Amino acid sequence: MTVEQIRLFLDESIAGKIRWERIRILGGEPTLHPNLLEIIDMIRNWRLDYAPEALIELNTNGYGHRVREVLRLIPDDIIIKNSNKNCREQLFDSFNIAPSDKIAYQFADFRNGCYLAKMSGIGLTPYGYYPCAPAGAIDRVFGFDTGRDRLPTEDDDLYDQLKKFCRLCGHFERRFHSKVHRPTMSKTWENAYELYSIKRPILHRYGERDIIVH
Ligand code: SF4
Repeated sequence: MTVEQIRLFLDESIAGKIRWERIRILGGEPTLHPNLLEIIDMIRNWRLDYAPEALIELNTNGYGHRVREVLRLIPDDIIIKNSNKNCREQLFDSFNIAPSDKIAYQFADFRNGCYLAKMSGIGLTPYGYYPCAPAGAIDRVFGFDTGRDRLPTEDDDLYDQLKKFCRLCGHFERRFHSKVHRPTMSKTWENAYELYSIKRPILHRYGERDIIVH
């Protein structure tokens, strides 16, 4: 996300009197963002004025010299969640297994979402707001382009997004303890990645709804 998008997010939060309990900065690998320190400062300033109790977290894999150099510059009041990646074993479950590819989920109500939407809350990406961060990642591959361009209001349950994204999301199965040791993917994802490799979807960027970019 750009600095301008973060500014817009904070302005929207102020205008909507939203006092976030926790803001988590995720990637990719956020320490590789060229403006990370500036962004952190902006969020800290917002916290100082509007939500002194808010937690600010930075998720990193801690991998590599450059990442470790940036981590040394992060202020002490930022909580660093470091997965300390040091091997090929994956800690996450099989995100790329679409429940809609399984008979067992034929009649599932995908608007229910999963524990992640409750635990981690709403996700903001360069392409708008989603019910969770994974939904934003799914949209980048499938190209539905349904990110909200403005902070969702209290009466917006995001059901349309949950219905669209959870049917594709492996987290929906809630398999907490199944480690994944190799790439695993269902048919819908195989097809989606194939199309993605040929032509990436075009999404509207957050705050720039009238401008279409890659
Ligand atoms: S199943 Fe996936 S898309 Fe749906 S709420 Fe959970 S993490 Fe988000």
